[in-house]
Amino acid sequence: MSAVTVVDPTTEQEVATYPEHGPEQIEAALTAADAAYRDWRRRPVAERAELLVAVAAVLRERAEELARLVVSEMGKPLAEARFEIEKSASALEYFAEAGPAMLADTEVDAGAGRHVVTYEPIGVIFAVMPWNFPFWQVIRFAGPALLAGNAALLKHAPNVSGTALALEDAFTAAGAPAGLFTSLIVGSERVPEVSAQLIADPRVAAVTLTGSERAGAFVAAEAGKALKKSVLELGGSDPFVVLADADLDLAVQHAVTGRLMTAGQTCIAPKRFLVDASVVDTFQTKLVAALEAVKIGDPTEDGTQLGPLARLDILENLERQVEATVAEGAELKTGGQRLDRPGFFFAPTVLAGVKPGMTAFTEETFGPVVAITPFETEDEAVELANDTRYGLGATVWSTDTERAETVARRIESGLVSVNALVASDPRLPFGGIKRSGYGRELASVGMHEFTNIRTFKVA
Ligand code: NDP
Repeated sequence: MSAVTVVDPTTEQEVATYPEHGPEQIEAALTAADAAYRDWRRRPVAERAELLVAVAAVLRERAEELARLVVSEMGKPLAEARFEIEKSASALEYFAEAGPAMLADTEVDAGAGRHVVTYEPIGVIFAVMPWNFPFWQVIRFAGPALLAGNAALLKHAPNVSGTALALEDAFTAAGAPAGLFTSLIVGSERVPEVSAQLIADPRVAAVTLTGSERAGAFVAAEAGKALKKSVLELGGSDPFVVLADADLDLAVQHAVTGRLMTAGQTCIAPKRFLVDASVVDTFQTKLVAALEAVKIGDPTEDGTQLGPLARLDILENLERQVEATVAEGAELKTGGQRLDRPGFFFAPTVLAGVKPGMTAFTEETFGPVVAITPFETEDEAVELANDTRYGLGATVWSTDTERAETVARRIESGLVSVNALVASDPRLPFGGIKRSGYGRELASVGMHEFTNIRTFKVA
């Protein structure tokens, strides 16, 4: 069986090589996961909650080592990696605390007899996850799914294979029963075949995927063939709508934070900046100045705000998108190219005068690229915001919050914020509409995605 090689995006040097799991190992993992599920579903929810607390403790204990592993595999600044580990630990604690009540039986008054809604586990959940938040994306699925009594088989992105194994090890160290949480190392070439096989297997109950539309469509089609539940969290091209009366300094500050987090490789990053024509020049000038002051460099160094992109193909795709958008008539205000140094670095970039139909407007840009489109009226702002195949997040900026809320309600998305960035929070549902996916993660609705919501009647 071949191996997966992880390359450090900062140095372009090899970090490690991991042997792939072959058919026998995958079969053994599936058998173990199925057996673990059958036992785990019968354990009291309080005992399952204890495991989540124990995993959180292991993540905290190992936080520094794990954060450095993440940086070496996908290049986000160390401070962001530390934050991600802490966020994962606290989400596990949140579900351990609040989750049991979400799984408790609900009595319903439906006439004669007793009517109860119960939330029961469904089995082994196959999870396909990406590299951009390699801990958080996994934990936000696994915490609630395991608390509900399911087992998990993870197929992580190959460029974060070390993180995938570290996650499994954290569950093992926390005392998880054998087979309850397993990471499968599968190289990209075998991924479609292995995924299709796992989804079709009767021991797998459902599949969840965070990633591209392409991968989502594949997994959803396989789940459809097998008539199994799927939850998809795909890309986004979130609008960032700046009304004329917005606090421009506040908007610019958040534009920089939102667009540069994880080097711009975030599904809920603002990507299309729709700005009232009366303030667009000021907004652009302030934003260019703020982006030119950003500290770019080694993500392990204190103070670095922007590190490399995670892989060469992501850098090349971003470069193509920027070049195409300029060729289509947009104006390059700053950046626009790779940095002349080792590593997959791309300069923070501002494209002005971007119009619908141009590449940076139509496609999701996964990197530090701001596409600015001016608008004349509120109606036009809403039309532009909705002129996308995606519908994940959106933000509206205005000092008149009532007006901003009215605009926000007209935007098609799964998440929307006024004068704040969109963020995931374990207490709130997270997910999109249109080609950003379906189903929800987090909160009680997220936990219930992987339960049998059963109607129970006693006459
Ligand atoms: P992918 O969708 O290819 O990768 C995400 C995960 O899906 C990986 O584990 C990947 O494995 C897996 N995958 C890919 N194809 C299949 C398949 N046919 N069956 C099952 N699993 C599959 O994204 P990329 O890493 O290539 O990034 C490309 C683009 O996707 C980005 O530019 C961005 O637009 C979007 N994206 C969105 C994310 C989000 O947070 N919503 C996260 C990551 C990407 P493998 O790598 O081995 O193919």
